[in-house]
Amino acid sequence: MVDQTHFLNARLADGSLRDLIVADGRFSAIAPAGNAARSGAVDLAGQLVLPAFVEGHTHLDTSFYGDAWRPHIPCTNGFDVRERVAFQMRNLEQAAAMEERAGNQLELCVGNGSLAMRSHVMVDAVVGLKHVETILGVREKYRDLIDIQLVAFPQSGILSSPGTAELLDEALRLGCDLIGGLDPASFDRDVKGHLDVVFGLAEKRGAGVDVHLHDRGTLGLFEIEEIVARTTASSMQGKVVISHAYALGDISPDALARAAERIAAAGIAIMTNAPGDHPFPPLAALRKAGVTVFAGSDNIRDSWWPYGDGDMLNRANMIGYRSGFYEDWELEAACDVVSHAGAKALGLEGYGIAAGAKADFVALKAEHVPEAVVAVPKDRIVYRAGREVARSGKVSAKAR
Ligand SMILES: [Zn+2]
Repeated sequence: MVDQTHFLNARLADGSLRDLIVADGRFSAIAPAGNAARSGAVDLAGQLVLPAFVEGHTHLDTSFYGDAWRPHIPCTNGFDVRERVAFQMRNLEQAAAMEERAGNQLELCVGNGSLAMRSHVMVDAVVGLKHVETILGVREKYRDLIDIQLVAFPQSGILSSPGTAELLDEALRLGCDLIGGLDPASFDRDVKGHLDVVFGLAEKRGAGVDVHLHDRGTLGLFEIEEIVARTTASSMQGKVVISHAYALGDISPDALARAAERIAAAGIAIMTNAPGDHPFPPLAALRKAGVTVFAGSDNIRDSWWPYGDGDMLNRANMIGYRSGFYEDWELEAACDVVSHAGAKALGLEGYGIAAGAKADFVALKAEHVPEAVVAVPKDRIVYRAGREVARSGKVSAKAR
């Protein structure tokens, strides 16, 4: 027998009022509203329905969410990735068990309406594969609740942490979906050597690539150009992400226009979380050039900063605010960044509110998308495969 549920009076992003029919976890039909209420139907009473949000970049292994508060330690002489990694190692030694912290963060994200996630997981010569093995277990435990992609992330560099390349290879064999990278120039001081390992492993294991790139200005731009060239040479269009890409936020408009064209042609997606006082990729210009820009919380209460609430709708608000988005179509673009664009960047199958798509959605009290982005209503219900899994930020006990 087909497991079918009718959701009545859903307000879609285009303003129309529809009934959503879900069969075996997918939308089987999106019909004009007005069907007679039948037993077991869920009346959404005109609430706005959005596809579940995409948390496109986070770190499940290093968050202290739900653990003791860790006061932020500032770098001694301006932002320094290496120094921050050292602070992180010290904090993690005193932290609660990783399974527990990762579970807390996952429930926070699901409670706020994210049902797909990409998490980077630290791999280096000191922690080895311990974090990867733990987070693979956490992914398995929560698989019915959220889809998780894992990135084998060389948090301590590749060439400057001997043995890491072999560990990354093993992490991919164990089940990580993508190979990460970290500031090939400023961290490993060897762009070619670093990217040889990253793209070499991607080809060997058929994995995607997602590189953390904080390097700014022309140095960062040079690295972006190298990643573009590697992506095209390896025919990896659509499988490569540059996370942060701060450089795109502080180069000249001409240089940005040239870079955007190349990034779009190479099918590389850019991830931003509109981070605090850092320059960040200009969304409007990049989207106009055809670049997929998506978002993630990145660090949630960890050693990098104390912020992060796991709410991608709030992230859309921050992105819109920092981008100077005021018009309705701009606010809709901010919402796209945490939903459809994220799904495209992660290559998700069956995403959206459409017949045939997975019935993973959020119902919230807002008149339309621009209002949702501005008001960030916390009163929302999250549905996974057509079943309620969270309400008002809390995952329901039976969904765990
Ligand atoms: Zn990150």
